[in-house]
Amino acid sequence: MRIAVLSDIHANLPALDAVLAALGEVDAVWHLGDVVGYGPHPDEVVARLAEVGAIGVRGNHDEAALGNLDATYFNPAARWAVEWTGGRITTETRAWLEALPERLEIDEMTLVHGSPRDPVWEYVTTTPAARANLGAFATPFCLHGHTHVPAAWCDDDGQVELVRPSDGSELALGARRLLLNPGSVGQPRDGDPRTAYAVYDDHERTVTVHRLEYDIAATQQKMVAAGLPDWLIQRLSRGR
Ligand code: ZN
Repeated sequence: MRIAVLSDIHANLPALDAVLAALGEVDAVWHLGDVVGYGPHPDEVVARLAEVGAIGVRGNHDEAALGNLDATYFNPAARWAVEWTGGRITTETRAWLEALPERLEIDEMTLVHGSPRDPVWEYVTTTPAARANLGAFATPFCLHGHTHVPAAWCDDDGQVELVRPSDGSELALGARRLLLNPGSVGQPRDGDPRTAYAVYDDHERTVTVHRLEYDIAATQQKMVAAGLPDWLIQRLSRGR
C-alpha cells in the first residue's frame, strides 16, 4: 500500500490540495493532527480530509479550537487564530475533530501528534527527548508531527541518530526503531516555505519525504480577508 502521511495542515487548503494532486492515487491518507489553527480554511480542510477518507489523530490546535484546553498557553497570534477557528467552524467540522483519538496504532506504525509519551503536547527536538520517546511506543515505528520540521530519529543499538530529510529523501524501514516527522503541510518552519509531506510504502518498506511548491499567496489573501494576524500571514512566505 502507498499511504500519504500528512501533518500540521493547519487549515491551509491550497497546500493540502497541492499535496493531494501530487500524490495521485494512494491507498490511504493518514494525518498527524493540527488539522486546524493558524490557517483560513478549517471547514474546507476537514471536508477535504473527510472526502478522501483520511484517518488520524488530534493535535493541540485541534483541542484548543474545540475549547478543550486553555488557549492561554498559546502565543497571542496562535491564540487569536485558534479562537477565530473555534468561533466559526461548523457542527460537522467540530464533530469530525471531536472524533479524533490521541493515538492510533496501525500495523507497524504508531501515529501521534506530539510524541508517543505525551501525544498532544510534547515537542521532540532534542536527543534526550528522542531517546525517551523511542522507547515509548509498542510498534516498531512511530509517525509524529508538531515541530513543523521534517526529522527522523533512529535508535541504532542505543545510539540515537538524527536525519534531516530533504525533498526526495527515502528512509528505509529496517530493524532500527524510528521516530519519523514528515514536516508540516500548512506551515513549514525549517526555512523552506514549500509544503512538506511523506509517502509510506509498506511493501517497499520505505518512507519518502517530499517538498512541493503551492500557492502561498492564495492562502495569504484569504488570511488577510479573514483578518488573521499579520505575523501568521508573513511566516508562510519565510517558512519560519
Ligand atoms: Zn502544529
